[in-house]
Amino acid sequence: TTILWWIRRDLRLHDHPALEYALQKGRVIPVFILDDRLLQKEASKRKQFLFSGLRQLDEDLRKRGSQLIIRRGEPLAELTRLIQETGAEEIVALEDYSPYARRRDSHIARELPLHLFAGETVYPPSLVLKPDGSPYTVFTPFSRAWKALPFASPSVVSLPERFPAVPDKLVSLPIPEAIFLQDFPPGELEALRRLENFLSGPAREYADGRNRLDQPGTSFLSPYFRFGMLSPRWAVFQVRKMIQITSSPDEKRGYEAWLNELIWREFYISILYHYPHVLAMAFNPALRAIEWRDAPSELQAWKEGKTGYPVVDAAMRQLKATGWMHNRARMIVASFLTKDLLINWQEGEQWFMQNLVDGDPAANNGGWQWTAGVGTDAAPYFRIFNPVLQSAKFDPQGRYIKTWVPELTSVPTEFIHAPWTMPLSLQISLGVRIGRDYPTPMVDHQEVRGRVLEAYRTSQGKT
Ligand code: FAD
Repeated sequence: TTILWWIRRDLRLHDHPALEYALQKGRVIPVFILDDRLLQKEASKRKQFLFSGLRQLDEDLRKRGSQLIIRRGEPLAELTRLIQETGAEEIVALEDYSPYARRRDSHIARELPLHLFAGETVYPPSLVLKPDGSPYTVFTPFSRAWKALPFASPSVVSLPERFPAVPDKLVSLPIPEAIFLQDFPPGELEALRRLENFLSGPAREYADGRNRLDQPGTSFLSPYFRFGMLSPRWAVFQVRKMIQITSSPDEKRGYEAWLNELIWREFYISILYHYPHVLAMAFNPALRAIEWRDAPSELQAWKEGKTGYPVVDAAMRQLKATGWMHNRARMIVASFLTKDLLINWQEGEQWFMQNLVDGDPAANNGGWQWTAGVGTDAAPYFRIFNPVLQSAKFDPQGRYIKTWVPELTSVPTEFIHAPWTMPLSLQISLGVRIGRDYPTPMVDHQEVRGRVLEAYRTSQGKT
């Protein structure tokens, strides 16, 4: 039998239940469909990463005697055509839990023999439920239930060295050209290498190191998870192994903290699965009527990293330049937009989606709603990140700031988090005049607290 392996956000060969099933059953034809409706929405860096990932996957397949078949168009029509051309009896794919994908897949499954397998998460969202069958909306009980489920270790079936060849006559479009992203070389080998390096290094100190903006204390794996170049089950299996073998309580804490982040990922996927309306509105109904400010020039300054708060500006410029931003920085800039500027979190959510290599509707929406304090298990809304204190705590020498905001390179450490406090004489001698060479802070953090609390309270009063 011939089986189409329809690849979507699972660009890998390891720990892949749909692929393993297909290889056991017969001849596998790996297919990727360029769906313009989806691609239009993809940020340019994410598209670059996807395309170069496809190229890498094609290379990996060719080493095994197979290859990727690329088509462009509406998936139902393209799959129907491929079935006619190949005589395939079945289509296999990994389940994609985002609302668009679920609609598309259920539509296709009515017309064609589409067989979906779990694998985007360790546990499908329909499995991690309260005893009464309803979904969790708070992280801690979700994670407890998640951890209590039986863990099926990833399959260690070694893949055949040769895959069946795809038929000669089958036409494939070229993979679109892509710019290579220096920070994120594509492919599963790179992802597996990163995982190994991380677990044998920074993960041991992750409990504290993960918050440091100036040090590479995290795994930098988010784009690989985003496109399934790394199996989450494989990552969980590996980190659990480390938790078991380490005798150091500190290291254990580090590994546990990282496992927890992988569970946050599944928590937000689950929230989006059960409450797809979060893409359109706040999860918390009492906070849907906040009167956000319409302030296009302030929004623009935030996007460009010209707010006058160095840590916010460094982070926004890092995003623009690399398509990635540290988690602590994401929280700081999200808090600044929503609380200090009182601009709708959806504006920030959208900007992140347009720029992140790892941009993912579930994690991004979850992160924004959490920081704005309007989401499921959100930070209480009266908790407002102080950008100066955050900066001093997590970038003590200002190295992160100086990497991304070169106009502040000469500013001494004691002033780097709040350069507007530099005496004028110092500004002159350094040649860094605030208001000329670097913006004056666009708001006074101490003064905006009242405004935001009032806006949130008013919304609560309306409901
Ligand atoms: P690590 O610290 O090494 O974490 C390992 C993995 O766990 C990550 O790769 C990611 O897959 C997952 N993870 C970690 N933290 C979270 C979290 N809070 N929520 C969900 N998953 C998490 N992450 C995305 O993958 N895509 C997004 O679009 C996204 N948008 C965000 C927006 C905001 C406002 C905030 C506050 C967070 C967002 N995050 C998003 C979560 C987090 O910032 C990134 O996953 C993390 O910074 C990626 O770096 P890393 O791979 O080195 O992470």
